Amino acid sequence: MPEQDSIDVVVVGNGVIGTSIAYELARRSPGTSIVVLGPRHRSGAASMAAGAMLNTFGEITKYTLMSPASQAKFQLCRDALDAWPAWLEQLKQESGVADVDKSLSHGTTVLLNAKSGHLDDENFAALLAALAKFDEPHEEIAPADIPGLDPLAEARPLRALHLPREGAIDARAVLSALETAATRHGVRFVDGEAAGFEVENGTVRGVSLADGSTLSAGTVLLAAGSFSGPLTSVFEEGSVPAMFAGKGIAVQTQRRVGVGFQHVVRTPNRSGSCGLHAIPLGDGVEYLGATNLLFSEPAHTPDIGMSEFLVQVAREQLDHRLFYSDVVSWLVGNRPVAIDGFPLIGRTSIDGLLVATGTYRDGFHCSPVLAKLVVDDILGEGSLAEAVPHFKPERRPIESMTVEEAVKEFAFHGVSASIEAGLRLPSHTDTTVLDVFYQQAAQRYYDAVEHPIGLSPEVLLSIVFDPDHADHRITRYLNAVHARYA
Ligand SMILES: Cc1cc2nc3c(=O)[nH]c(=O)nc-3n(C[C@H](O)[C@H](O)[C@H](O)COP(=O)(O)OP(=O)(O)OC[C@H]3O[C@@H](n4cnc5c(N)ncnc54)[C@H](O)[C@@H]3O)c2cc1C
Repeated sequence: MPEQDSIDVVVVGNGVIGTSIAYELARRSPGTSIVVLGPRHRSGAASMAAGAMLNTFGEITKYTLMSPASQAKFQLCRDALDAWPAWLEQLKQESGVADVDKSLSHGTTVLLNAKSGHLDDENFAALLAALAKFDEPHEEIAPADIPGLDPLAEARPLRALHLPREGAIDARAVLSALETAATRHGVRFVDGEAAGFEVENGTVRGVSLADGSTLSAGTVLLAAGSFSGPLTSVFEEGSVPAMFAGKGIAVQTQRRVGVGFQHVVRTPNRSGSCGLHAIPLGDGVEYLGATNLLFSEPAHTPDIGMSEFLVQVAREQLDHRLFYSDVVSWLVGNRPVAIDGFPLIGRTSIDGLLVATGTYRDGFHCSPVLAKLVVDDILGEGSLAEAVPHFKPERRPIESMTVEEAVKEFAFHGVSASIEAGLRLPSHTDTTVLDVFYQQAAQRYYDAVEHPIGLSPEVLLSIVFDPDHADHRITRYLNAVHARYA
């Protein structure tokens, strides 16, 4: 694109968040010149690998309603649940892709099975309590009545809850329709990568690209998902939560034996392996997901270890006849995960520069609501600072637990994940040995850190077994946080 073209808004990132915001802005402000910048291939994008379950209650864990920040996040998800039907209808009309919802599956069944230790018990109990508290339609059903479900006897479900309002949709089809609809509204998609921001006297002037060119604009939105981390170096160290890439592997399969699943069937969320789920996409194609390990940089290739784990747990816990299914494709994406697990959404201390990322596990589901809130702010019809004050991008990390609790929780998740992976112990002992091992590993890490904070099990897992953690970027980040916010 020639540099002299006048641009009002550059959206950095062409995943579901950036594309939805550009589309919403173009619809509501037809004269605005908008560019979405991102590599055409979208390699490693979360949106290209997502389920995408449109789950709110299905995502509940025991942490969901624990703090004001997590309650605010839950409210976003509830709003999204209400927003999707109209959003899809509008997308159908404005993209001209009449069958964009062809794969929409209605209903989600959440299983409590015996395979993941007591973590699932606690998350399932939290789900039951929230369903009652918010009067959300649901039904307890007999696991034997779930079409397609046929796990190994040792992994048979104990209980099952059906959520009729929650389903899933083909993420790749929705993203493609969003791009078509946005283009029809005049949004320009530029195949390239941002290298940094042009800032003058505290005001953003545009984006510098990796190829040396520049896109000048008075408003810039950083929405590059897990790739946003390096671009946040425009802010002082420690001012914005450190970012991780939550590598997720999923596989699409073609059913050969058995009837297959008729709607989403899943477990509660589990930190190390996400929630195990099967999603029917039509014509016998099924999506099996998803793994979740955090790294400092996004990945682009599935690895043997977690791919094997995914296939094993899907076959054992969902349907042993998946053994016969054909592999259609492996999917790899990176969830944008802030160190405190909460989104980064809002204006920043750099005038004209906004951030919308950190959506972790449910950004696809929340995308219509985030698009509306961000566009409200850009058009002066609302304020992100008022709508989602907890999630302002420049903040001290939100602490959901103390360091002592974090150590215990890390061990609890470690034991549960080991059980799910097939742990067998000699008969003279029990999981206490493993619990002690995980607690000691976490405690060793914290002992070496000068300014520790309570971190979630999945964040701790990504750093405690790193032999170089003493000079790890997270230690530097925590020192900078202390200097800035203490
Ligand atoms: C396996 C898996 C399963 C998931 N399942 C679900 C689910 O069931 N439901 C749900 O709601 N969510 C799910 N998620 C989470 C969801 O996918 C994310 O929260 C959401 O897609 C994040 O969207 P995004 O646009 O912020 O990031 P991304 O989709 O990662 O998009 C970022 C884009 O920025 C581009 N980019 C990279 N570098 C640059 C640069 N320098 N300049 C410009 N652009 C750049 C990338 O190519 C990419 O296209 C899942 C994620 C994974 C990985």
